[in-house]
Amino acid sequence: MQPARQIEVAGQQVSVEAGASCADALKLALSGKQFKNAVLARCGETLLDLSAPIPADCAELSAVSADSPEGLSVIRHSTAHLMAEAVKKLFPAAKVTIGPAVENGFYYDFDFERPFTPEDLEAIEAEMVRAVGADKPFACETMASAEARERFAAQGETYKVELIDDLGVPTVSVYTQGGFSDLCRGPHVPRTGLLKAFKLTTVAGAYWRGDEKNPQLQRIYGTAWANPKDLKQYLDRLEEAKKRDHRKLGVALDLFSFHEDVGGGMVLWHPNGALVRAILEDFERKEHLKRGYKFVQGPLILKRELWEKSGHYDNYRENMYFTEIDEQAYGIKPMNCLSHMLIYKSRLKSYRDLPQRYFELGVVHRHEKSGVLHGLLRVRSFTQDDAHILCRPDQLREEIIGVVKFVRDVMDIFGFNFTAEISTRPEKSIGSDEDWERATDALKDALDHMGMPYEINAGDGAFYGPKIDIKIKDALERSWQCATVQCDFTLPERFDLAYIGEDGNRHRPVMLHRVILGSIERFMGVLIEHFAGAFPVWLAPVQARILTVTDAQNAHAEKALRFFQEQGIRAEADLRNEKLGYKVREAQLERIPFMFVIGDKEVEADSVNVRVRTGADVGLVPLAEAARIVREAAEEPFKRGGMSYSFS
Ligand SMILES: [Zn+2]
Ligand SMILES: [Zn+2]
Repeated sequence: MQPARQIEVAGQQVSVEAGASCADALKLALSGKQFKNAVLARCGETLLDLSAPIPADCAELSAVSADSPEGLSVIRHSTAHLMAEAVKKLFPAAKVTIGPAVENGFYYDFDFERPFTPEDLEAIEAEMVRAVGADKPFACETMASAEARERFAAQGETYKVELIDDLGVPTVSVYTQGGFSDLCRGPHVPRTGLLKAFKLTTVAGAYWRGDEKNPQLQRIYGTAWANPKDLKQYLDRLEEAKKRDHRKLGVALDLFSFHEDVGGGMVLWHPNGALVRAILEDFERKEHLKRGYKFVQGPLILKRELWEKSGHYDNYRENMYFTEIDEQAYGIKPMNCLSHMLIYKSRLKSYRDLPQRYFELGVVHRHEKSGVLHGLLRVRSFTQDDAHILCRPDQLREEIIGVVKFVRDVMDIFGFNFTAEISTRPEKSIGSDEDWERATDALKDALDHMGMPYEINAGDGAFYGPKIDIKIKDALERSWQCATVQCDFTLPERFDLAYIGEDGNRHRPVMLHRVILGSIERFMGVLIEHFAGAFPVWLAPVQARILTVTDAQNAHAEKALRFFQEQGIRAEADLRNEKLGYKVREAQLERIPFMFVIGDKEVEADSVNVRVRTGADVGLVPLAEAARIVREAAEEPFKRGGMSYSFS
């Protein structure tokens, strides 16, 4: 028998026998409750099955708890195996493919003759619950690839055979729970009994390896959590998200619509939706002016040769639309950069003229496949709050910092938290390695300077340069991609942009492409869901509605309406011959922030009775005071964010 050795487990020195499992070691150091909550062991960067032997070179072992990010991921992936076991039991003809963990859950793709129905999902879930009750271990076997291949081939699992062939390694690991085995790197939770909080959510079509030329598969999505309480919270959030769906609210609040006659991904903005957009755009114009941006505007279509020169024709053509005028081909712009560069070039610039910050609410068209179009979130025609900053290399860092601060100020106003990611060079790209490195370093440097943490998205940059992507978190904890800052040394080169330096020589400026809200359409979709249609007062298309009790107050109501409109308040009057309760309910359903009720008493006092959409009752106030209340509520987010903003 080999001698025991000392290792550190969860901060304590313990003595373990040779061949002891990770679970054996953890048991020695953890309380019973802590041990029960452990789903994996961690040694350095490596995650291990609890049943795995402690690696020979492991000096320090710790437990991964069920509710940690890694713990949740392994619970989700293990639940995918559990689901595959149930599917194979109920539908033996289904072939298994792959089943990874994803955000909040997991999926598994099956090759099956027909889509799974909601009734199938119920049956599969019931079978999974039975397997959890049986509390079977997840057992890992390492075997020769040839042996595993033979085993899966004998079962007719052709996708697994293909995966093994692609791996091209001598040995693979296979995990078995109950009667089901799957090719898998692992790790897994120790027993099926630990999978206590899951729900199958949806089915969708998918292609093997994501390729349309491959067989169509049936994907089942599910969600899984560390405990039933977390699962319930998540399902409640999903339910809330359904209620807030901007496509539903867009109709209910009469904000926008789509028409088959117009075409997919093209939005028609109705008066209230167009008004919210206009308010957003006015806000943006003012904020850009404050920060030294200049407004510019270019045409929607530009000659094809210009797109060839910029590299868009070679690298972005499949996302573009083209048209022809007098036998000359034109590209409909998917980005606003080209006009901005030509505007820069129209006059010689000196080093003192830089930076030049050009801003445009630019309408762009991009081809999205019809299958991915989704309300306002994925459209084919949209407006970007786009700017291009042309600066000297020594100004680059300050300019990037300026943009990130701009994003922070704006997101504070909407109440969004955000995180940053840096995307690096993709396969299809232009420019030298040196430029890419310089640009990537400048982006990192700026975020480091601001003390902002970020993640790296390898290979996810634009074709002309690396970028910072800012993701905001909405009221339901969902992430949305909005702002980006892209660094570009290449387009200034291609367009031969220059400035005269202090030394009297020509130098090349650097270009930043950046958006703050991104696509206005998409941002509107996010805002509608974030606020559940109840826009803050500064954005609400109708800030106040005047409601009369009877026809007797109509003259006073019309006078009050004129007063509020002159005060710059977006007000309207409901003079219909309906009961007051009915009018109030309707105003609440339309999420109108203030209701000004007028009865005989209010007429006599030349005032209104102010009610807030949240249910609070301010009471009888003179018209001027009612106007002040609305104005103050509209300014509130700007005070909170530390930004001054004038509504005059
Ligand atoms: Zn697995
Ligand atoms: Zn651009």
